[in-house]
Amino acid sequence: MRRFARIFFKTLAITLCIAALAFYALAVYPLRNPHPPLQLPTTTLAIRDARVYLSPDEPPHDHANILIRNGRIAAVGHTINIPADAQLIPCNACTVTAGFWNVHVHFTERKWSNAAYQPAAILNAQLADMLTSRGFTTVADLGSNLADTVSLRRRIETGTLLGPHIYTAGAAQYPPHGIPFYLRDTLPWFILRLMPQPDTPAQAARDEQRNFASGADLLKLFTGSYIEHGIVKPMPLANASAAASVAHQHGQLVFAHPSDLEGVTIARDAGVDVLAHAADTTDGVTAALLQTIVDHHMAMVPTLKMFRTTVTTNPRYLDPIYAEVRQFHALHGELLFGTDVGYMTDYTTQDEFQALTQSGLTPQDILRMLTTAPAARFGVQAEKGTIAPGKLADLVVLGSDPAQNPLAFSDVRTTIRTGRVLYTRP
Ligand SMILES: [Zn+2]
Repeated sequence: MRRFARIFFKTLAITLCIAALAFYALAVYPLRNPHPPLQLPTTTLAIRDARVYLSPDEPPHDHANILIRNGRIAAVGHTINIPADAQLIPCNACTVTAGFWNVHVHFTERKWSNAAYQPAAILNAQLADMLTSRGFTTVADLGSNLADTVSLRRRIETGTLLGPHIYTAGAAQYPPHGIPFYLRDTLPWFILRLMPQPDTPAQAARDEQRNFASGADLLKLFTGSYIEHGIVKPMPLANASAAASVAHQHGQLVFAHPSDLEGVTIARDAGVDVLAHAADTTDGVTAALLQTIVDHHMAMVPTLKMFRTTVTTNPRYLDPIYAEVRQFHALHGELLFGTDVGYMTDYTTQDEFQALTQSGLTPQDILRMLTTAPAARFGVQAEKGTIAPGKLADLVVLGSDPAQNPLAFSDVRTTIRTGRVLYTRP
């Protein structure tokens, strides 16, 4: 009997040790050091004889050279000297713009699981496929597992992976019993249990405090959640306000998934900064309502391709959404570029540029959405968004000029972030 007890306790001790180690490896180790300082490379790069858009607000400079030193733009102009040891980026009638932003992505596909441990070659190929081959040097993840996303960010910032700078919202907040049907029907029950659906403002504030402490730098609220096809459940305004106020105390931006008129007004009244989508149930979304969104200095990420790809191509559904974006733009509303890739598994960007053009946006408007508008909204306009000496060397080399055809924004040859080449088209 005593021998049996000894074996039992020995087995129990070993099992507990293994469980503790597994918990540490999966839940603690990946979340360490969520904001590592950016390490700039000590290299010299140059681009010769390019058409360069310094910013969306001025005409391009032809036959210009760009010199990059130690991760930053050292000089740009017609007469600058290129040192003999500079690594030349092939140009050949190329067009260069500041690095692109995609402020609506997700690192939720299974392939990002255990990002702390996956081989660099696999993750680099995935980052290129989804983001860097499309010119994105900065992205905002609007909902994912922080253990994976923080690990990715840490490995990118410390130079062991080639990827964009990542802002993450971590765990998004939903209305009480308000997980959208398209997530509820695809995710396992134990993941669904972990998704915050606070019942009270106090719980909403606590959930956001915990999300911030775990490394999130944005807040995402489902102010209107499609709990069934065609049925939107609103988030209680008091919950949205409580969570948003905690986020703002920490200097974070708040994004909202609105879905319909009520979701938009809750977002507005809770002090949300950015609508993560246009409302796609457009009843009651009038010019007068959109004017109040503009007056509240809220920005909008249209995600037009996502609607046509994941909902329906029926023009009776799509045309009013395009009209909403056109109207918001006419009212001088601030638009930011974002596609919802990661949720949407087709990563190509052409259709979004096409749809934005259909909504009345010029190539100049689209370049603003991709560069200066998000840099200013995220408060990093001193470092990013335009090409100027002293700024971070985040650049996209395009094969053709978007002024002639906005689809050229997807003709990406090379993507450079902080003087590191993240992607070169084969
Ligand atoms: Zn999304």
